[in-house]
Amino acid sequence: MSTEIVKDIICPQCGESQKYRLFSSINAKDNPDLKQSVLDETLFDWRCQRCNYFAAMAYPFVYVDNRARYVICAAPGGSGSAVESTEQMQGYVKRRVKNLAELKEKILIFDSGLNDVAVELVKNALCTIIRRSYDNARLHAYFSKVEGEKMDFAIFLPRQPEPVYHSTRIEVYNQSQEVLRTLDYVEPENFITVDARLAKKIIEEYQST
Ligand SMILES: [Zn+2]
Repeated sequence: MSTEIVKDIICPQCGESQKYRLFSSINAKDNPDLKQSVLDETLFDWRCQRCNYFAAMAYPFVYVDNRARYVICAAPGGSGSAVESTEQMQGYVKRRVKNLAELKEKILIFDSGLNDVAVELVKNALCTIIRRSYDNARLHAYFSKVEGEKMDFAIFLPRQPEPVYHSTRIEVYNQSQEVLRTLDYVEPENFITVDARLAKKIIEEYQST
């Protein structure tokens, strides 16, 4: 079940008091509409019914998928207290993310049946290759989808709102899984952040073996 909280908020533009529904937890199966708003990155959106003022709220919540067995703690800007792993979450993949874009990516990865640690290794390899063609800019890659033998990524460049798309062979993903096997990588029981930093650490460890 999803847990809903209704709050009164005052529109900063017109002063009208209104109800705002926020969620401390979202269950993928029970609330497909909420899942969709995460995938659309509109979950935090709020619009004043009186003056049409728009604001993007941000609050911490937990996203749970019991079927695919994963739970993700979304803590915008590092807000919210650390989520403790409970007995019900045993055996679940547990992640921490900072925003809806990162949460969306995790959902797309896990719903495709992929391992996000291996996907981060693929992203690292891909960014290393393509960075040169973008003047060594700081790139942010997000998993998009798997299609046939290809894995697609949305690449965000500095100051560009629209991403460019790059794909890599699924073979690179299989090799990344092999790297994790070689290192005896074990999924921890607590909430962890799986991002480019972790990928870098794993690659360094792999290269020193
Ligand atoms: Zn208003």
